[in-house]
Amino acid sequence: MTDLAERVRKLRVRLGQACEAGGRDPGRVELLPVSKRQPMGLVREAADLGFTRFGENYVQEGVQKALEAPGLGFVLIGPLQRNKARHALTSFQEIMTVDRPELAERLRHLAEELDLVRGVWIQVDLWGEATKQGGCDATGAGLVFRALAGDPRLPVRGFMAIPPPEDARAFRAMAEMRDAWQQKLGQPLRLSMGMSADLEQAVAAGSDQVRIGTAFFGNRTAPAISRD
Ligand SMILES: *Cc1c(COP(=O)(O)O)cnc(C)c1O
Repeated sequence: MTDLAERVRKLRVRLGQACEAGGRDPGRVELLPVSKRQPMGLVREAADLGFTRFGENYVQEGVQKALEAPGLGFVLIGPLQRNKARHALTSFQEIMTVDRPELAERLRHLAEELDLVRGVWIQVDLWGEATKQGGCDATGAGLVFRALAGDPRLPVRGFMAIPPPEDARAFRAMAEMRDAWQQKLGQPLRLSMGMSADLEQAVAAGSDQVRIGTAFFGNRTAPAISRD
């Protein structure tokens, strides 16, 4: 067994235990490997294990990987600047970091121009840590929904968040926000939260997708190509 296969095996056990402890159906919690700053060789190894979708933080790195492995899907989980929106929309299967109405409008414009359909997630930050990782507050989320205006080219999959570590109330607040919007819109919305260090807490609170980097691939080795 390769190092990666062994890590993934352990991770699956851990995720299974988290689901059991949280009373969650393991089939309803997606494991999204985060391949940022990981070499393409490891991504291919993960593909051999059956993984077909990967989270990337940096537009340029994701665009490059998508070119190298056209059979795999990459989703953007890092901040998106307007001037990279075209590249991002072209290369990524989903954009998980839509956090302001101007970006939503730009994406709608481009999706029409490029004649593309891409799932989008609204990135939420209810804790005022927005400076580094992005994310909008509850009011901002409403504005993003309004800007997306139910555009069938950009179907909203759900909310993505990075709640403060070990803050159970923060994880629960995200679940409540998801439930409220789900009811209001009458459509299912998923919740993406939980990383290597806090997947148990996220699963217990109701996360539908955990984004796992280091616990999946090991320590990140490549330098960041660009901050966005
Ligand atoms: C890097 C990153 C992850 C994965 O983090 P790990 O701690 O390595 O599991 C998940 N989500 C986002 C938004 C990230 O930037």
